[in-house]
Amino acid sequence: MPLKIKQKMSGKITLTMIKPDAVKNGHIGNILADITTAGFGIKALKLTQLSRRDAELFYSVHKERPFFGELVDFMISGPIVAAILEKNNAIEEFRNLIGATNPQEAAEGTIRQKYAESIAANAIHGSDSDENAIIEANFHFSGREVY
Ligand code: UDP
Repeated sequence: MPLKIKQKMSGKITLTMIKPDAVKNGHIGNILADITTAGFGIKALKLTQLSRRDAELFYSVHKERPFFGELVDFMISGPIVAAILEKNNAIEEFRNLIGATNPQEAAEGTIRQKYAESIAANAIHGSDSDENAIIEANFHFSGREVY
């Protein structure tokens, strides 16, 4: 099956998830405001919930890490918001906006510094490479959900 979100978007998109902690704590609106204020366009957006299989697949690169089980349990603990975001140099710009994985190390004003609870429940995901952004966008969205 051909990829729905094409390689030609590479370099211009990232995939984000507002994680269950931030959804539960009522931060969807503020986080989306931070994202659009920072100049990202929204190409796709939905409230959804991952199954255990989805979460294990999404984070399969981490399956040997000690925190894998806890990460999967956390990611399926409630709804998330998934979105495809568009901006030049999207990966780096978005990782700067969300801050370090551990919110205690995240720079002032970053999304994780403002909204995350812990290194596991860290409010938001951002793709770590152009290649993974395309894979993750196709994981969450069908072609007709992308604008
Ligand atoms: N994580 C965790 N414990 C750790 C490191 C990471 O629970 O010691 C979780 C955390 O939710 C993180 C995700 O695993 O966002 C993926 O880890 P990665 O190192 O890829 O960090 P990210 O790219 O999300 O900053």
